[in-house]
Amino acid sequence: MKFLKPVLAVAMAAAFAFPASAADKVMNTDIAIIGAGCGGMAASVAARELGAQVITLEKQGIIGGTCKFSEGIMAVESKMQRDWNYGLTKDEAFQRIMRYGHWRGNGRVVRTFVEKTASTIDWMQANGVEFEKLFSNYPDGLYTWHIYKGRGAGWLAKYLDKFQKMGGTLLLNTPATELIQGKDGVVRGVIAKDKDGNKITINSKAVIIATGGFGANEEMKKKYLRFPGVDGLAQTGKTGDGVQMAWKAGAAQDGTEVQASYRPGPKGVGTTNQVAASAKQPHLWLNPEGDRFVDETVMLEWPFAGNALERNGGKMWVVYDQATLDYMKTQGIDLGVGVMVPVATKLTKFDSEWAAAEKAGWAKKADTLDGLAKATGMKADILKKNVEEYNGFCDIRHDGLFAKSPKYMRPVRKAPFYAIQLVATSLGTLGGIKIDDKWEVVRPDDTPIKGLYAAGNDAGGMYGDSYDLIMAGSTIAWGVNGGKIAAESAVKYIKNAK
Ligand SMILES: Cc1cc2nc3c(=O)[nH]c(=O)nc-3n(C[C@H](O)[C@H](O)[C@H](O)COP(=O)(O)OP(=O)(O)OC[C@H]3O[C@@H](n4cnc5c(N)ncnc54)[C@H](O)[C@@H]3O)c2cc1C
Repeated sequence: MKFLKPVLAVAMAAAFAFPASAADKVMNTDIAIIGAGCGGMAASVAARELGAQVITLEKQGIIGGTCKFSEGIMAVESKMQRDWNYGLTKDEAFQRIMRYGHWRGNGRVVRTFVEKTASTIDWMQANGVEFEKLFSNYPDGLYTWHIYKGRGAGWLAKYLDKFQKMGGTLLLNTPATELIQGKDGVVRGVIAKDKDGNKITINSKAVIIATGGFGANEEMKKKYLRFPGVDGLAQTGKTGDGVQMAWKAGAAQDGTEVQASYRPGPKGVGTTNQVAASAKQPHLWLNPEGDRFVDETVMLEWPFAGNALERNGGKMWVVYDQATLDYMKTQGIDLGVGVMVPVATKLTKFDSEWAAAEKAGWAKKADTLDGLAKATGMKADILKKNVEEYNGFCDIRHDGLFAKSPKYMRPVRKAPFYAIQLVATSLGTLGGIKIDDKWEVVRPDDTPIKGLYAAGNDAGGMYGDSYDLIMAGSTIAWGVNGGKIAAESAVKYIKNAK
């Protein structure tokens, strides 16, 4: 089957042929793409570059989803890494991803993904995306994170511009609501609603789902996530529409229980806040009762910190004393907070930001541990017992409870004492729809649902049980590479279909 001839396709798309009622519209295209975040925009441009007519639907009034806030993308054996003489190989990366997920991920899918990542950086550069540097997520981590200029919003704007210049159609404020599926199981389009609630029927030869997961759907979170109560960051619009549409069409589930557990933080407080940064450190971590529950160096690989906090109820106090605060102000913090607050940042804005934090209720200070217990609600006897035990471990440079590295052990002795409340947070969900190594959606018996593809957070197969921080930038990479592969596969499928 041939693609719609460009002129005809544009005319048909613009003319909204054969409406069922005055307000309803019918459009025709080769590929309909649901969601204009990183997966959807990568798919849109890739499909258009290959000559397919594309209509992309976006539920919100702007494109970008959570991708617009992101800092960088993972790749292995990229030109930038070679120029830096950085030697991580695709084989090593593949093994690390699979082992990190205890081989619960899909080996063929992950291999295809890893193989694609370097050429995707070339592709982004060819489309005008500029990269500033390679970065790692924690000290001694892998330098897979290719930091782009202008954050996600910057490169997405370039992709949108290119997409529209190439004749692609973007419909904002237009949520997809259901797939059009024939009795033969083949997906042939999607139904959407415009901003006035009118129905739009989009007939297409393939559909790519990239709606960003279900981080804003409380019901689905309760049903599928192990720890549903975490604070989801920037999850607007992520109500699981794509996952539900695919399941309704017969898709199998994959990785639905996985979420991107993030570095714990004070609820609703930005990354650059220095009172928050003072606590996103491996100081003494106590549960709401005042009991220590973890080797605090899990903050180096923060999905671990998220997991530990989630299983301990989702809230904690990070406790340190004046000596540790002085150290952070004069020597800098032990752990960076993303790209924006790098390691060794001196907390010179701490004092000016303290009053607001205290007023908001998530930062407390007291001259005694009894006073700190009163201010925080921790039980004084439990708090004092834990501080005493921890101070003893600091003195002998050995954590007899959780074997924490002595490098990060600082006693809590010099008043005043500080306690900052952090909650478990998540960057979103990381699975739901089972795909194969062409990013086709598959049924429980692994046969593909013809014409249907999924990418980004909607698709399972990459993350075994936890967010993979070793490969910094992996979720954007999962979206962009998946979107591109889905588009390439969809174009091949359309060309080969009778
Ligand atoms: C603050 C923050 C920073 C991050 N930084 C990084 C980083 O540096 N590197 C990294 O690897 N990951 C990062 N992530 C994670 C990353 O942003 C996501 O994993 C990634 O954007 C997921 O891509 P996606 O295409 O699946 O979803 P998104 O990029 O979120 O896009 C999904 C889009 O689908 C739309 N949509 C939903 N339902 C419908 C519907 N029914 N019809 C039409 N459209 C619909 C949504 O409105 C949204 O625009 C970060 C996340 C956050 C919150």
